[in-house]
Amino acid sequence: MTVSDGTRVVRAGLPEASQGEPLLPGPTFAAKYHLRGEPSSSPFTYGRYHNPTWTRFEHALGDLEGGPSVVFASGMAAVTAVMSVTLLDGRPGRELTMPSDCYYTTRRLAEEHFASLGVKVRMVPTDGSELSKHLEGSTLLWLESPSNPSLDVCDIAELARAAHDNRVLVAVDNTTATVLGQRPIELGADFSVSSDSKALTGHGDLVLGHAAARDPSWAERLRAFRTRQGAVPGPMEVWLAHRSIATLDVRLERQCRSALDIARFLTRRSEVLLVRYPGLDSDPAYPTASRQMKRFGPVVSFVLDGKSKAEKFLDACRLVTSATSFGGLQTTAERRARWGGDAIPEGFIRLSTGIEDVQDLLNDLSQALDKAA
Ligand code: PLP
Repeated sequence: MTVSDGTRVVRAGLPEASQGEPLLPGPTFAAKYHLRGEPSSSPFTYGRYHNPTWTRFEHALGDLEGGPSVVFASGMAAVTAVMSVTLLDGRPGRELTMPSDCYYTTRRLAEEHFASLGVKVRMVPTDGSELSKHLEGSTLLWLESPSNPSLDVCDIAELARAAHDNRVLVAVDNTTATVLGQRPIELGADFSVSSDSKALTGHGDLVLGHAAARDPSWAERLRAFRTRQGAVPGPMEVWLAHRSIATLDVRLERQCRSALDIARFLTRRSEVLLVRYPGLDSDPAYPTASRQMKRFGPVVSFVLDGKSKAEKFLDACRLVTSATSFGGLQTTAERRARWGGDAIPEGFIRLSTGIEDVQDLLNDLSQALDKAA
């Protein structure tokens, strides 16, 4: 029976219901499992290799992503695993083409770690057609759409086609959209990567990540990398994540609707110099985003006139809480330039829309903008 996303997230990865058993079995805490004779006779041998809580969550992710999935201890662990299995295969001349505006730590990882291991790293903006001009000689094309924090978008299907014509693998960091906002594997990518510390799990109470692969043999290589490299996810976090994805559809429905209302509200305020939200039909990303995204995500970015006004605005917010990260139940915001490393103005604010009543949020933003003026 084919079911909608709202139903799939509620049921994904659950075992067949069994008399007297919970519908989602609790986390399994185990370093070792009872294991007689041949190790291959048991699905579970040692806690760094396997865990039934991981397996259930990975089945859920696989169902949603459309490709076998591997859970990692963080989004960055998933990013590292995909880059490692594709770029560090012992062959010379490996090249990585990636966005110059993607998540800061991903860029640092490429520039500092992978470049020092002999990978040639090329950075090109997400926006525009430049990415497709740098495919020749590349091994892996890394995409992040919408990009964090500027929310630029690229045409994943078109880039994947061009990359495959050049025998280049494609990975998409899908953190800002989540798998219910956009399905990279369906759009032609070889890998879909996500920080599950964000909207996918949505409660801001855990750090986790995953990577899905179109080809099961790549998923096996990712799994082997996780086992050998050894920084595995904790069963409690994975269980919390599995419990949390059941509400992904309802959370995103509210978050995305409110994000659009907030983006529209901000465009009407004279204190706001620029608003970026891929779901705004006036946004430069909208034509591509509306073709490839089912939902536009909870993040809205906007620019106030300088650092001091932005800080005044954040201090004046009563409901919107100052915090980094995004995708959680509570609406949060931060002056992104306080971290450095992104090509953004000092007054750039990244706002993550939560699930509060949107009118309360609009009232709060309005009074805070009045005070910051
Ligand atoms: N990718 C993107 C787009 C992110 O925003 C982040 C974290 O902010 C990551 C990857 C890394 O995820 P994690 O913090 O779970 O390691």
